Amino acid sequence: MQKKTVRDEEVGGKRVLVRVDFNVPMDRNGKIEDDTRIRACLPTIIWLIDHRARVILCSHLGRPHGRVDEHLRLAPVARRLSELLQRPVEPLSEAIGPGVLRAVSEMQDGEIVFLENLRFYPGEEENNPGFARELSRLADLSVNDAFGASHRAHASVVGLAAYIPCVAGLLMEKEIVMLGSLLEDPARPFVVIMGGAKVGEKIGILENILTRADCILVGGGMAATFLKGRGWDVGTSAVEPGTMELVGSIQRRAAALGVRVLLPVDVVVAEKPESGATARVVRSDQIPPGCRIADIGPLTILEFTQELRRCRTVAWNGPMGVFEIPQFSDGTRSIATVLAGLDAITVIGGGSTAEAVTQLGLAGRMTHVSTGGGASLQFLAGKTLPGIAVLVDKE
Ligand code: ADP
Ligand code: MG
Repeated sequence: MQKKTVRDEEVGGKRVLVRVDFNVPMDRNGKIEDDTRIRACLPTIIWLIDHRARVILCSHLGRPHGRVDEHLRLAPVARRLSELLQRPVEPLSEAIGPGVLRAVSEMQDGEIVFLENLRFYPGEEENNPGFARELSRLADLSVNDAFGASHRAHASVVGLAAYIPCVAGLLMEKEIVMLGSLLEDPARPFVVIMGGAKVGEKIGILENILTRADCILVGGGMAATFLKGRGWDVGTSAVEPGTMELVGSIQRRAAALGVRVLLPVDVVVAEKPESGATARVVRSDQIPPGCRIADIGPLTILEFTQELRRCRTVAWNGPMGVFEIPQFSDGTRSIATVLAGLDAITVIGGGSTAEAVTQLGLAGRMTHVSTGGGASLQFLAGKTLPGIAVLVDKE
């Protein structure tokens, strides 16, 4: 990797500001429902304390829109982190100012403090230089381990780098290396599975990955656009305006490049994909009017499985169906199960896809499940993420 990481720095005795993405789901009583994002940053934090750094953590939580919201304080998150690390983590009630400076100046090597929610300050999302400057005064070095926030040009992600050097944390490094390997030199055959709802958002990935992939499997809501492109009736399935032409040009390019694009041969349809709905399996060219696609069908699962069994690298973004509802979850579950059993590099990107794999208890059997939803999509689309661009390059 071309960017410096914490491992390239002398951190002993230094004040190190670590930007993490601990934007965890929490109920109104401060109970954390899923601590995956906290666990994902433990290697960086442990590395820093083992090397006697003074660790100043900062994160955002929820959308307080630049004002203090008592329900969005980070103290419960600091508590959970403290339990996981089995050492004290001191939550501060502010992120900048004299009180914070004083607390930081009293820190000993290997100690940890946690700044208050960065988004209590309007300067964070505005990327205000004054706010970034105030944050920078707390530390000698900053570490970005918040891959999930690195597509946002916010003060703690981007602005800070104008004042103090900013290097990658170990999670950030893993994300860049794993997602980057898909775009650089993937072991072949390389199969890309695309699905999910937001077709418009994913065209960028398709365009960028097309030149690298050997085969693209299309499922989820995205399949409707491709099937409609064949001139088939897709019933009431959503087809975003403007996406038909883009999908058409992607298919022409794929044909020219010799990249195979596999569409579902059968689909599960329903009048409305809600719980209790009646699900029917039909051929993809026989979708009844008044019905919409809610999952890939059993023959498609079989075809996709055969394709996956042959490959050495898989990238998956977007669930195969409305997996939140049991009668439309077969496609997503089957594909996740196949991936879990493959002797191949398996990389999962996208918030919902990661959620599906985690719910199925299969996350640990993938090579990498990205912690960045939107950030992973932008990375795979070949965009430069502002929070990565500002990291110091290796000499
Ligand atoms: P990701 O977050 O992994 O990038 P998306 O946000 O694009 O994925 O899509 C996730 C959503 O897509 C899920 O909520 C799922 O229910 C929905 N979805 C999947 N297949 C279909 C379909 N055929 N019709 C409508 N929604 C679908
Ligand atoms: Mg999503």
